Amino acid sequence: MSPLQTDRLPTEQRVLVVGPFGRDAHLAVQSLQRTGFDACAIASIDLLAEEIRSGVGAILVVADALDLQFMQRLSDCMAAQPTWSDIPIIVITTKAKARSRVAKPSFEEIGNVGNVTFLSQPISVQTVVGVVRLALRSRSRQYAMRELIQQLDEKIEDLTRSNSEFQAFAYTVAHDMREPIRMIESYLSLVSDRFGMVLGPTGTRFVADAGSVAARMRTLLQALLAYAHVGNNALLATPVSLKSVATAAINNLSEAIACSSGNVVISGDDCVIQGDEALLIQLFQNLIGNGLKFQKPGATPYVEVRWVVDDNQWTCSVRDNGIGIPSEAQEQVFAIFKRLHAVSEYPGCGIGLATCRRIVDRHGGRIWVESEVDVGSTFHCSIPLRLPSIDPTAAPTTTGETAGSAVF
Ligand code: ADP
Repeated sequence: MSPLQTDRLPTEQRVLVVGPFGRDAHLAVQSLQRTGFDACAIASIDLLAEEIRSGVGAILVVADALDLQFMQRLSDCMAAQPTWSDIPIIVITTKAKARSRVAKPSFEEIGNVGNVTFLSQPISVQTVVGVVRLALRSRSRQYAMRELIQQLDEKIEDLTRSNSEFQAFAYTVAHDMREPIRMIESYLSLVSDRFGMVLGPTGTRFVADAGSVAARMRTLLQALLAYAHVGNNALLATPVSLKSVATAAINNLSEAIACSSGNVVISGDDCVIQGDEALLIQLFQNLIGNGLKFQKPGATPYVEVRWVVDDNQWTCSVRDNGIGIPSEAQEQVFAIFKRLHAVSEYPGCGIGLATCRRIVDRHGGRIWVESEVDVGSTFHCSIPLRLPSIDPTAAPTTTGETAGSAVF
């Protein structure tokens, strides 16, 4: 056990001493061992490389032992270390002229190897011990960090697994429930067709109510399927015209626009970005649809869609003149099933914005809302121009030129 009293593996607190054999190196090893460190002398770069692979706390090098070839191997070993690891290297330099003819690396070259501290001779044993102790402390913190990273990776893996299990479950339930709902709806319609005369007003109302519940259930299952679809399926990224996806969304909403006598306008020049066209249409459709729906009674909806593109990302905004969202609910509305109103007031099932967030997440972007109650809301989405897993040479264009599609 090292003088640091850690509960780490012994190798993680080991000090490897590399020097011209044997006075300097053996003296250093003995001094460190006397102070309680786990120190050992290393006779060759091959051995050092092997020891580094099995775990090391710090490396103490007497500069005379370094030649260019040794330096290169040491540098390779350091470069091969995982990102959390930055092995402390303490180099003891001497002003005495080099006795050998072998070419020696400069201090700068040695310093470039990594986490290097230089100590110039003459130095006291206490100084060496102090510096080694500090180096081992920093190494302990690196190992602690490695454990945290491992724990975090395991948690991410668990979460990803349970998330995809949940998605598969939600998809299966939503999919398998569609058939029974269809059966209920068709039996209700048979009852009302064949027995309408004998049902009387109360019976007819019950059947109609049951029909509305079944229809709501069907809508909910469709929304759930759409939500699960965004998470389950590969993103098919192609060059996409923002104007054409916004226009397609508006066309899909023509009935809602006509019913509400609303106005939807698109501002801004067209721009071609990389994205999944079907999902982007769904994103615009959900946001514009909400802008038309969440209105004060009797108001004429006005929804404006605009976007700006800079070097790194495109940001679209969907602004409406609706009822607005109180500031304390502006983050919550993106959670699945979160609704601020009764279905009787505003129809819906609370999945639309959660789906939007998922679509934006899948594109590596973010979504947020700015809103004022009784004035209106503006939903913003910003999405990187270069999607994370896409070949950077397949860059976005401002014309309609075709580039390859990428699935990820
Ligand atoms: P749904 O529209 O089915 O209720 P969403 O997930 O699309 O579900 O929206 C969640 C909630 O966020 C809505 O129920 C509503 O309370 C609020 N909301 C969404 N969009 C707007 C908007 N444009 N204006 C005001 N409130 C909104």
